[in-house]
Amino acid sequence: MSLSLSADQPEAPADADDGAWLECIDCGATFAPFDDVRYTCDECDSLLEVRYADLPTFDDFEGNGQGVWRYADALPFDSGVSVQEGATPLYEVPRLEDEIGVEALRIKHEGMNPTGSFKDRGMTVGVKVAKELGVDRLACASTGNTSAALAAYGSRGGMETLVLLPAGKVAAGKIAQASLHGARILEVDGNFDACLDIVQELAAGGEAYLLNSLNPFRLEGQKTIGLEILEGFLADYDTVPDRIVLPVGNAGNTSALYKAFRELVQAGALDEADVPKLTGVQAEGAAPMVEAIENGADEVRRWDDVETRATAIRIGNPVNAPKALPGIRETDGTAVAVSDEEITEAQRDLASEGIGVEPASAASVAGLRKLRAEGIVDDDERVACLTTGHLLKDPDAAAAAGSDPEPVPADTEGVLEHLQE
Ligand SMILES: *Cc1c(COP(=O)(O)O)cnc(C)c1O
Ligand SMILES: [Zn+2]
Repeated sequence: MSLSLSADQPEAPADADDGAWLECIDCGATFAPFDDVRYTCDECDSLLEVRYADLPTFDDFEGNGQGVWRYADALPFDSGVSVQEGATPLYEVPRLEDEIGVEALRIKHEGMNPTGSFKDRGMTVGVKVAKELGVDRLACASTGNTSAALAAYGSRGGMETLVLLPAGKVAAGKIAQASLHGARILEVDGNFDACLDIVQELAAGGEAYLLNSLNPFRLEGQKTIGLEILEGFLADYDTVPDRIVLPVGNAGNTSALYKAFRELVQAGALDEADVPKLTGVQAEGAAPMVEAIENGADEVRRWDDVETRATAIRIGNPVNAPKALPGIRETDGTAVAVSDEEITEAQRDLASEGIGVEPASAASVAGLRKLRAEGIVDDDERVACLTTGHLLKDPDAAAAAGSDPEPVPADTEGVLEHLQE
């Protein structure tokens, strides 16, 4: 199976371009990467992956600077449409580490990217591919962050952008970003999955170039999250993490991290036995991946009604499930659902260590806490939790989870009196 950790390094087919090509994860059909616009397999309609004739080891990244393009040897280009994405902090959180009870806990805060989420890593590559293909209009469906990133990177690349959002279900900061960066914002009277259905049909009809995570090039950029985490752990602990815990929406990151690890194994840079256990977390009200993992199912059942205050992962039909399910299983990981209350509690805990995240991001920490309490995560594990978006993305959720302002009079005496109450 092409998605197995022990798969051999592939050989370049005739249609490869500079050692890169697209390959179907199911039937193995190969396609030239930049000749035509293509999102899925012509033969069987399944998902595509970018494949390379030469895969880098960590040594190849040495001396390359910081950020996504440090890892150009693992990407289809040497440079992209960039606003300096990547190189995000891998924070220590000693109190949380202690309280949850693991050997080491680090927070990879993707909210520290230029537009405040990891989506920037995918867009710096995806928008570059759009330029290479010569398209002039970009589009995505989004729970918010994809639209903010696409709007910023599209405008940086000088292209028109169209974003489809579920009306009333997108956090304020994200709409503000898409708006100011100049996207046309279409508010759809339906949920994210309906938006994605529509934008896929628009893309199939040639109306726009699709930059959802169905687009295999986005996941190439997002692989660099995994490469940064591994380099960070190797530098600080001389070993890679035992486990990486991450929020799951469309399961793009789960797929991208797994691909990063598979390529390192194929390149001989990582032992199969050392690959971190990929551990996905969903909100209880939107947990089709968790259901599939718990039932040992090969496919995910689409949930038509989804609800959670973690709006970034309010998704019932994770398009990358065929890539992500093998990723979780082959790495001996798992998936877990958490309640909105557990998410908010984890958001407060992170904030108390100085780390501001939006609700979906806190799901990773909430999930780790739950799995540790259940004994599924051991106390001797070194763990990285991914926090996917910044606190300011969803100011309403932050204000609701935090403390209320206290009205005081406009004189020092009155303020002192109030403080003594
Ligand atoms: C997009 C997004 C997710 C979901 O990521 P997937 O790769 O689709 O699983 C999670 N959190 C935030 C903040 C996001 O913006
Ligand atoms: Zn196919």
